[in-house]
Amino acid sequence: MSWRVRHMGFQHPVAEQLPLYPVIIGDALEDQGCGEMLAHVYPGTGQVTRRFRMASPADVDRAVVAARAAQAAWRALPGDKRRDLMFRLAALIEEQASAMTPLLTAENGSIILAGPHMSADAAQKFRYFGGWADKIGGRTVATWGGPAHDYVSYEPYGTIGVIVPWNGPLFAATMVLAPALAAGNCIVLKAPDLAPYSVMRLVELIRQAGFPPGVVNLVTGGADVGAAMVSHPGIDKIEFIGSGATARKILASAAETLKPVGLELGGKSAVLVFADADLQGAAKRGLSGAVSANGQGCVNGTRLLVERSIYEPYVQMLSAMAGHIKVGDPFAPDTIMGPVISEAALARISGLVDRGVAGGGRLVTGGARLGGEHEAGTFLPITILADIAPESEIARTEIFGPVLVVTPFDTEEEAVALANDSDYGLGAYIHTSNLARAHRVAGQMQAGQVQVNGSGEAMTPCVPFGGMKQSGHGRLGGMEGLREFQQVKNIWMNLQG
Ligand code: NAD
Repeated sequence: MSWRVRHMGFQHPVAEQLPLYPVIIGDALEDQGCGEMLAHVYPGTGQVTRRFRMASPADVDRAVVAARAAQAAWRALPGDKRRDLMFRLAALIEEQASAMTPLLTAENGSIILAGPHMSADAAQKFRYFGGWADKIGGRTVATWGGPAHDYVSYEPYGTIGVIVPWNGPLFAATMVLAPALAAGNCIVLKAPDLAPYSVMRLVELIRQAGFPPGVVNLVTGGADVGAAMVSHPGIDKIEFIGSGATARKILASAAETLKPVGLELGGKSAVLVFADADLQGAAKRGLSGAVSANGQGCVNGTRLLVERSIYEPYVQMLSAMAGHIKVGDPFAPDTIMGPVISEAALARISGLVDRGVAGGGRLVTGGARLGGEHEAGTFLPITILADIAPESEIARTEIFGPVLVVTPFDTEEEAVALANDSDYGLGAYIHTSNLARAHRVAGQMQAGQVQVNGSGEAMTPCVPFGGMKQSGHGRLGGMEGLREFQQVKNIWMNLQG
């Protein structure tokens, strides 16, 4: 059965609407790159959606030439004009949201319900940062030792290379493009081979919005294309969103050109549930760590630390709620959780779960791949493992699937220590009704973003988002996100004649 489904081709009306241009350089839409053939797989059925030739390192060269040719004029364009283009793009993204939604599902199995929110979020980012584009000034600074005038200006880097992952390509690409463009940079953007379609369509929309040719260039591809961008002397800064393993290679390569690299990496975010919390709310929000992005969100709270006095009722509540989540066809309008990205990912996640159970973890729910009508896709139900030892592999590794691990604690001090005992530091979630405790614990979290009684609401374009420790450095979002794409220049003038 599964073999037959896989060889039928992609059976969905959206197949006719998939974007056609994996390479967009200057004003040229190119329906083939010069690189490897891609057979993109839809994880809901394992079917190939389209085959096309991706970009090559030679295409990266051409994209860099186009970006650098556009640089001077884009940088010189007055901020209000950049703002207007970004607002026009935001409006276009909103107009085209219903056409974007099925692409988001086809590319990586994200649920159709989430599509409109993802387009709305992308549009909001261009509006928010478009609003910064016309307000970029400098500042004057104090001078010592005689009459002088001294000021600071914030200037674009030039050309930014943008590498994004498959789990939320539109989200990640817009998180970088909006501030980088507002600051006056040109872009070479790599759409990920595992989920290329929403980024391909985004670049078409950028073109339609009237951005000058070469300001944003697209090279869809895999590791070879990303590596060519990192080593390219014509790219002034790399913004990378992806795994720590790839980040290590990128930093090693960037050492050759001394290129700055912004890193947004993985996480193993802790969720602290205190006995004084609203338990229902904390369970619903706790569960979202497994559900959001089909369990494949970098900042999902996946390591649940629960005060012992409410530990068992909380675990049972989580499990009961998990039973009500509809897992299955991501194109179905009532599906809440879809598949994981690939067979390889499913095998990796299942291995982690199996070893977690073998090591003494208690499997509360889930754990086994869905069969029957879902057999051909890569579906894992919500999987909850309780009684997990903090030092175990499954408590320390980013799982990147719909799996939660739960560990009890006895004191606030122990909860803080357990939460911080991680190589990662992306998010932290605190559930409590005690205001003083909320502030006290938030202040001690080693994480770039702390949410109190929340589970994702903080992720607006206004807030700085990024990691501590091995979750990366630099921030995207907010004014800090704009600064990531600006170089600081100090200008001193002698006023003594
Ligand atoms: P990945 O590191 O395998 O790939 C990320 C991107 O890097 C892809 O586009 C890939 O083609 C490219 N790449 C691979 N090898 C490269 C190389 N040698 N040089 C340059 N580029 C190369 O990560 P993934 O599996 O696509 O994404 C999942 C990871 O991303 C998870 O760890 C997740 O937590 C993280 N992530 C982080 C954020 C964040 O904002 N912090 C957001 C989303 C995902």
